[in-house]
Amino acid sequence: MNSNRDSEYVDTIVIGGGQAGLAAGYHLAKQSVAFVILDAHRRIGDAWRTRWDSLRLFTPACFSRLPGMPLPASRWSFPTKDEMADYLEAYAERFELPVRTGIAVDRLERSNGRFVVTSGDARLEAENVVVATGAHQIPKLPAFASELDPRIVQLHSSEYRNPSQLQGGAVLLVGAGNSGAEIAVELAQGRHVILAGPKRGEIPVRHGTFPARLGFRAFRFFGHHVLKVDNPIGKKVGPKVLLKGPPLLRARSPELEEAGVERVPRVVGVSDGLPVLEDERVVDVANVIWCTGFRTDFGWIDLPVFGEHGQPLHWRGVVERQPGLYFLGLLFQYALSSDVLPGVGRDAKYIARHIASRHRSAAEAWERALATA
Ligand code: FAD
Repeated sequence: MNSNRDSEYVDTIVIGGGQAGLAAGYHLAKQSVAFVILDAHRRIGDAWRTRWDSLRLFTPACFSRLPGMPLPASRWSFPTKDEMADYLEAYAERFELPVRTGIAVDRLERSNGRFVVTSGDARLEAENVVVATGAHQIPKLPAFASELDPRIVQLHSSEYRNPSQLQGGAVLLVGAGNSGAEIAVELAQGRHVILAGPKRGEIPVRHGTFPARLGFRAFRFFGHHVLKVDNPIGKKVGPKVLLKGPPLLRARSPELEEAGVERVPRVVGVSDGLPVLEDERVVDVANVIWCTGFRTDFGWIDLPVFGEHGQPLHWRGVVERQPGLYFLGLLFQYALSSDVLPGVGRDAKYIARHIASRHRSAAEAWERALATA
C-alpha cells in the first residue's frame, strides 16, 4: 500500500485473508474481478497457527477444503491446526492470490462514491469491499474476570497454547463448549481439572469412528442444505442451534469422565477473589481459563450498516443499503455452515458473482448511454 495519503485504486478489496477471504479471492479471480486481499497477520494461516498447540480440526479433511484444492491429507483424517495454516498458505500460492500481509485495516468509510480503506498512513479506494475478518475476533470475558485474585493465572482460550503456561494446582475452565472440553481433557493428564457450564448436546458416538462419519455427513447436510436463512425450518431452528452452540464433538461426556474432569455448574461471579458457581459454591483454584467465546468488532467500519446490536444488516452477505459492500464468514450468514470450512466456499461464490454482476450492469448502462448519445 502507499505510505502517504495518495490513494491506490483497486476494483475490489477483501479485508481479511483467512479461509473466508481466500475463498472470496478464488471466486473473484474466476469472475475476472481485479482485487487485493489485506490481512493483519504476518503470515497467511496465522489465525490457525496461533491457536493452542494440540488443536486438530473437528471437521474431517474431506469437508474442510476450500474450492478448487483438496487438503493434502486422507479424507477422514483431522489435520492439525498448523497443517491447516500451511494449506491456506499453499492455497494462496497455488491460485496466485494477491494477499498483502501485515496490514491491519483501521477504517472503512465512503467518500465521493467510493469505499476508502485506511491502514495507518496508507489509503486505498475501491468500488467493492468484502469484509472477511472472521467470527472469532475478540475474546469475550465476563466483567467479573477482573475481580479474580491476581495470584490466579487467568487466560482466555485464545491465549492458551499448552499446559506450561499454567502454575501448579487446580484449573477451572469456564465454558463447557468444544474449546473448554478439549482443553480440559488435555490438562487433566496430571492435575485436577474442573469444567464449569451446563451440559450441552453431544454427538452420540466417538469422534473419528466410522459411525461418526455417517453422523457428520448428516450434520453437514442439515447445516449446509436445510438450516438456511431462506427456508422456514432454517429461519426457525437455525438461530436456536446457533444460540446453544455446536454439540460436543471430540471431548464428550465419556471422554471427560475417562480423563477425570470434574463437571460443575456455571460460574456466576467472584467472591474474595475466587470464582463462584451458580449453586453458590466457591472454587479454590490456581488457574482459570475462560472458554467463553468471542465477539466481533466492526467499530472500524464507519458506515450505517449495523443493527441495534451491532450486527451487519445484510442478505447472504450483500449489504443492500450500501451497494458494493459485502460480509463473509459471519455466523449463520446464509446457513449454519457459513462460518466454518464446509460452508464458506458457497457464500464466497455467491458474493463474487454478485460483484461481477454489478460490473456487468455498470458496463451495460454505459453501453446504453453511449448508444443513445
Ligand atoms: P479467520 O480465520 O479469523 O481470519 C480472519 C483474518 O482477518 C485473520 O487472518 C485476521 O488477521 C484478519 N483481520 C481481522 N481484522 C482485520 C483488519 N481490521 N484488517 C486486516 N485484517 C484483519 N471450523 C471448521 O470448519 N473446522 C474446524 O475444525 C474448526 N475448528 C475451530 C477451532 C477453534 C478453536 C476455533 C476458534 C474455530 C474453529 N473453526 C473450525 C471455526 C472457523 O472455521 C475458524 O474460526 C476460521 O479460522 C474462520 O475463518 P475466517 O477466515 O472466517 O476468519
